[in-house]
Amino acid sequence: MNKYRVVLLLQLIISFSAVAQSYTVDKVPNVQLKNKYEFVSNPDGIISQETVNRLNEMILSVRDSASAEIAVVLLKSIGDADIDDFSTALFTKWGIGKDRKDNGLLFLLVEDQRQMIFRTGYGLEGVLPDVILSRVIRNDISPYMAQGNPDRAMINGISQVCNYLLNPEAVQEIIVREQSEQLKAQEEFIQFFKRLFVAYLLVSVLVFIYFIYSFHSKLKMGDTPVDKYNYINAMRSSVISCTLLFPLGMLFFLLFYFWKRQNLRNHPLVCTNCGNKMAKLSEAEEDAYLTSEQIEEEIVKSVDYDVWHCGNCGHNEVLAYDNPQTNYSICPYCQAKTYFFAGDKIVQNATPFSKGQGQKVYECLNCGKKDIIPFIIPMLIASSILGSSGRGSSFGGGFGGFGGGSIGGGFGGGSTGGGGARGGW
Ligand SMILES: [Zn+2]
Ligand SMILES: [Zn+2]
Repeated sequence: MNKYRVVLLLQLIISFSAVAQSYTVDKVPNVQLKNKYEFVSNPDGIISQETVNRLNEMILSVRDSASAEIAVVLLKSIGDADIDDFSTALFTKWGIGKDRKDNGLLFLLVEDQRQMIFRTGYGLEGVLPDVILSRVIRNDISPYMAQGNPDRAMINGISQVCNYLLNPEAVQEIIVREQSEQLKAQEEFIQFFKRLFVAYLLVSVLVFIYFIYSFHSKLKMGDTPVDKYNYINAMRSSVISCTLLFPLGMLFFLLFYFWKRQNLRNHPLVCTNCGNKMAKLSEAEEDAYLTSEQIEEEIVKSVDYDVWHCGNCGHNEVLAYDNPQTNYSICPYCQAKTYFFAGDKIVQNATPFSKGQGQKVYECLNCGKKDIIPFIIPMLIASSILGSSGRGSSFGGGFGGFGGGSIGGGFGGGSTGGGGARGGW
């Protein structure tokens, strides 16, 4: 035999094994038809003959005890077919299990998909529930498949299944234990939320007490109704946000708060001139008694004014109600609360080599005065650092993706109509 022929032969062998046979349901060798003492279909030699013999012995003793008929099928490939559908079809075609009892069990492993599945007949679902079969896949088979030891995986897994079938009490024990563990976890969960709720109630009460106290002391700080109004008005946003967080007690407080605030504002005023009761003017009427600053403040809602008029002597009283939630502040030139930050203006952009210049612009809507405060924009070092960290994060992303797509792809799979469990390695 010359060199050329050896190479040709080798190439032939390689190409033969590379085109691994992809089985259809009809092509899987049914070993039972040839020999009624054989239960393991291992056409691709995924496990050794010695293992096949041991599995056959185990399965035979289970069949003799009349509890179940087991078939084990190990294939290199079923192409793109779904292992779930494939196993159901194979189960039906072979008719695994005694006719009346429906006590068949099929184990199918597909090497190139790294998937395996148990398929049970109706008669076995009670004795071998899906949880048990998932357990066998997870604990007894998958770890050894992942180590590349299919012989050990099969002996472990099938002997475990045979044990369960010969000793149904063991199955019951596991189920009861699992149920009680689930119940315990549920109870702990409920307990945790009960405690959390009690803590929340306690905090709600404390928050409520705090607001009552602070409300009371704010009222005491003010001498006149206007002062009192302004003091309690300053706590408006914290009252609202705490009501959202702790609605239980705070809702009552919120209603009381707004009622009291309005009440203070409508408190009837007595004329300091003649002692007559004064009347509050409407928004339209009051403008005639307000200065241009005050009107401007009312327009931007930084201060609200009420004007009270004495019908007897003609005396007017202007009351100011400050709005604590406003972007306007008191103008250093005209003292009206109409001064605001108009924005940043970029005079010169920063580059990676030089600083930039900007201006902060403040403006008064009443007197029109502007304040321009220059500031320096730092050089663009930050952006170059950002660039390199961007590269870092994309590397991280790729790494994460690698982790996600590997070994445990099909773990813990589910059962379908006929019962069973599916898993991968
Ligand atoms: Zn008067
Ligand atoms: Zn001004």
